[in-house]
Amino acid sequence: MDVIVLGGGLMGTASALFLARRGVRVTLIERRRIGAGATVASFGNIRRSGRHLSQLPLAARSLAIWNEAERLLERDVEFRATGHLRLIFDEDGLEDMKGYAEAARPLGLTLEELTPGDLRQRFAGLGPDAIGASFSPNDGSANPRLIAPAFADAAARAGAQIVDQCPVQTIRHSAAGFALDTGKGVYEAEVLLNCAGAWGDAIAAEFGEPVPMESRGPQMAVTEPIAHRILPVVGVWARPHGAYLRQVERGNVVFGGAVERVHVAREPGFAHADPARLPEQVAAVLRMVPALRDVAVIRQWSGCEGYVADNLPVISASGTTPGLFHAFGFCGHGFQLGPGVGDAMAELIATGRCETPLEDFSITRFAA
Ligand SMILES: Cc1cc2nc3c(=O)[nH]c(=O)nc-3n(C[C@H](O)[C@H](O)[C@H](O)COP(=O)(O)OP(=O)(O)OC[C@H]3O[C@@H](n4cnc5c(N)ncnc54)[C@H](O)[C@@H]3O)c2cc1C
Repeated sequence: MDVIVLGGGLMGTASALFLARRGVRVTLIERRRIGAGATVASFGNIRRSGRHLSQLPLAARSLAIWNEAERLLERDVEFRATGHLRLIFDEDGLEDMKGYAEAARPLGLTLEELTPGDLRQRFAGLGPDAIGASFSPNDGSANPRLIAPAFADAAARAGAQIVDQCPVQTIRHSAAGFALDTGKGVYEAEVLLNCAGAWGDAIAAEFGEPVPMESRGPQMAVTEPIAHRILPVVGVWARPHGAYLRQVERGNVVFGGAVERVHVAREPGFAHADPARLPEQVAAVLRMVPALRDVAVIRQWSGCEGYVADNLPVISASGTTPGLFHAFGFCGHGFQLGPGVGDAMAELIATGRCETPLEDFSITRFAA
């Protein structure tokens, strides 16, 4: 079987590796540099708490791969299972956390529920006025700049052809199945996997499968480096957008959330952070870690991500076209899922079935 993977972000590169490991002939085509879409812009959170419950089996499959990433990719992608601490500042947050913890437990995610006393004892300096917190000890973070190139290099070692700086211009049906006209010639294959991120809905629409999706950019920033004191990733149980932060081993504190995501024009798809929103983010961050008061913010950025109207990704076979598969529209939470998505898509394409439930993510949910 020949497969073309369209899109060289985390989803495409992980799919390419797992397809190649199953003995499938794979060509991955990326219009820019590998990983230069939403993936490189990510905060790097490997978080399960608060995730839509239907995603937890896939998130568990993914976490198992993150735990093996260094061996699998033959490189340190800075995955660290430091734990994910989620602070609670009000009664709504407490109610959300308790309801979620109960519903997630049978699905394999156990959250430790911390009182203010536990929090002060175990995580001094984090959320001093919080009324509680949840802690998910096996979650953590990884480096978004390293992950897609690491998957692409591993896929190439496993036999995949990786073609970057190669925009796919048109897609036609051919005797082989699909023919893609690109900046570097025509590529043909029996199977096409659409991993085009925020641009994936345009490809689906070409096959008569419109998806209600818009492009938006979460707003991120980073501080100057300071002594390394914050071990877990820290978030907030808040509606609608809680802030989140983590300190990288070099000492910089990366943060995001707390504000509306910026609108991004799909072409060229470069997202710009809005400096006017920074003070609101900083206020939310200081409530989480007051000791950051005098630390300088040195850079802001954003990235172009596809948000589907029901806030769930599209991960499925096409409903209209045999041989076509989709994995796009990850709504700002695809970083954790990426390795699991690649593994699941490879299983689905190579065997026609997937042991992880994916029904809620089928593109056919929009067919009506
Ligand atoms: C600022 C930001 C912070 C985030 N933080 C987190 C987080 O902390 N945790 C989390 O779980 N998720 C997070 N996410 C979401 C996560 O990064 C994404 O869901 C994930 O990276 C999506 O991967 P992807 O491969 O689907 O998309 P992308 O990385 O965007 O890859 C799609 C690729 O397709 C290529 N492409 C598109 N059209 C064509 C074409 N015609 N020809 C060739 N190539 C094409 C694009 O160039 C692009 O490289 C964040 C996202 C952003 C933007």
